[in-house]
Amino acid sequence: TTKFSKLEREEPDAIVQIMNKYSEDTDDRKVDVTIGVYKSESGESYLFPSVAKAKEILRANDPGHSYTVMSGIPEFIEGARRVVFGNDIPQEGKLASLQTISGTGALHMAFVFLKEAGYTNYYLGIPSWSNYIGMIEHIGGTVTTYNHYDETTRAVDFDSVTENLESAPSNSVFLFQACCHNPTGADFTKDQWIKIAEIVKTRGLFILFDNAYQGFSSGNTEDDAWAIRYFYRQHLEFIVCESFAKNLGLYGERVGALHVVVQDKDYVDNAQSTLTALFRHECSFAPAFGARLGSIIFQSPELWKVWENDVAEITERLHHTRKQIYDRLVQLNTPGKWDHVIHQNGLFWFSGLTPAQNERLITKHHVYSTNIGRVNVAGINKSNVDYFCQAIDEVVR
Ligand code: PLP
Repeated sequence: TTKFSKLEREEPDAIVQIMNKYSEDTDDRKVDVTIGVYKSESGESYLFPSVAKAKEILRANDPGHSYTVMSGIPEFIEGARRVVFGNDIPQEGKLASLQTISGTGALHMAFVFLKEAGYTNYYLGIPSWSNYIGMIEHIGGTVTTYNHYDETTRAVDFDSVTENLESAPSNSVFLFQACCHNPTGADFTKDQWIKIAEIVKTRGLFILFDNAYQGFSSGNTEDDAWAIRYFYRQHLEFIVCESFAKNLGLYGERVGALHVVVQDKDYVDNAQSTLTALFRHECSFAPAFGARLGSIIFQSPELWKVWENDVAEITERLHHTRKQIYDRLVQLNTPGKWDHVIHQNGLFWFSGLTPAQNERLITKHHVYSTNIGRVNVAGINKSNVDYFCQAIDEVVR
């Protein structure tokens, strides 16, 4: 007998199932393009040179293991703000911020905070990151979905986005990814962001930016923050969820931040103290190690430069790999149009392969992507690009 008979057995995430299959596969041609983790040209997980240096500095100045500050390590928060908002905006005193347990923790705190402020009605363009809907429903929110992606143009379905912005009840929260859309790689153009800001303003909507890949679109963290800074300058109020999992390569260290823009300065303290109080109930303190590495980088102009270079090099490799894939598929005369592999941004290529084709990639070719056709471009390198493209060619013919 048990007190837990009401519990159901939950299936693991689809991607975890595919990763498990990959690790059980003994064929040495196997290719892993599943989970969104950056890998270097040699196929290994990658330690950023800036982070390696910060680790040395931290080791030489061991701060010990005491509790930190509940709202976040101040030098980390200060730097995390500058990454998103640049040097000037943080000086204006309109931000309330919290150190969080990476991007997922930032999103969770955003949902909890918005609920406290009276907002529980979400709009989400799909396909999207698979965790959002579960996370929103978990805090008692509701989600209306619409198309983010147009399968024929293989880009953003902007008509669908604007129709939903125009028709959503006021005070709805639209969850947008700032850049490098997961899983489609299809981002808004600047003109589209301007149009979105216009509608948001007139219709009294609220935007939640998920900023999980800043830098990996343009190769430059400043350029990738354009939309967020534009929204700020439009005097809009919004939230940014910031993850350093990808752009510092600190996945397992769980480094992130949440920033609330409060345009009426009288209410910044209310937002800040609410964030801190809610975090006390949820977690008390965020992990210190990765945030200390971030602090060291953000507080050193030289290391910040090294970090900028790290991000630029990674992005360059992603662009190069996309081009390699495209060139091979064209060379092979693979049926279909493949230029979306170059046009989509960030870590992911949304291939457009059918579930049956993705299944065949696994069973016949040992190529593990996702059942929706999302390919982690960083899993491809010189040694497997030919094999990977031949496999794609075979399954689409
Ligand atoms: N948001 C998006 C779009 C993501 O792709 C991810 C990770 O894959 C996250 C948020 C959260 O990542 P983390 O909690 O590791 O920072």
